[in-house]
Amino acid sequence: APVVGVLALQGGVVEHMRAAESLGARAVKVRAPEDLQALDALILPGGESSTVDRLCRTFGLFEPLRDAIRGGLPTLGTCAGLIMLSSQIEDPAPGQQSLGVLDVTVNRNAFGSQVASEEVALDWLAPDPASGAEGATVRAAFIRAPEVTRTGEGVEVLARHRGAVVAVRQGSVLGISFHPELTGDTTLHRTLLDAVG
Ligand code: GLN
Repeated sequence: APVVGVLALQGGVVEHMRAAESLGARAVKVRAPEDLQALDALILPGGESSTVDRLCRTFGLFEPLRDAIRGGLPTLGTCAGLIMLSSQIEDPAPGQQSLGVLDVTVNRNAFGSQVASEEVALDWLAPDPASGAEGATVRAAFIRAPEVTRTGEGVEVLARHRGAVVAVRQGSVLGISFHPELTGDTTLHRTLLDAVG
């Protein structure tokens, strides 16, 4: 079974582990650089991105994570995880850094409180990884969600919400603004495992 690491410093860890396990993967927690070694894929969960950033640096994980993702480890970042992956944050917390492995700019709190806990069906612009079918929808929960405000060259837009880009892919890196793990939708986890090849 493929081994999926879930960054387990803060935020929605267990839900992602369950989603990966429901697809037959083995899920492990990533808390130290050595936890990255035997992974086939990686998930950076939602939470609070400036806290995750600070804890990554405290635990010596910032550079190892960046290097593993740059090295081609298939990665899914959700919400705060998308912010961590980004190359630029419009509204960083003081001193906040991001990994710079996904060439997008994000606005951390774009959706603010209006969409604080909205659950919606998003039109998915990529074919379903299992069936190859087009025109799928993804059930998404938005919680103080970021928006992608710029996409660099080679970044594919996978979904929009209220006109804003909320899901992107660049090579083996997937970044989404919302939480699929809270709605039971496994499209994103299947897409991640599909990239394991
Ligand atoms: N806006 C939050 C941040 O700055 C992300 C919220 C979330 O992950 N649900 O990290």
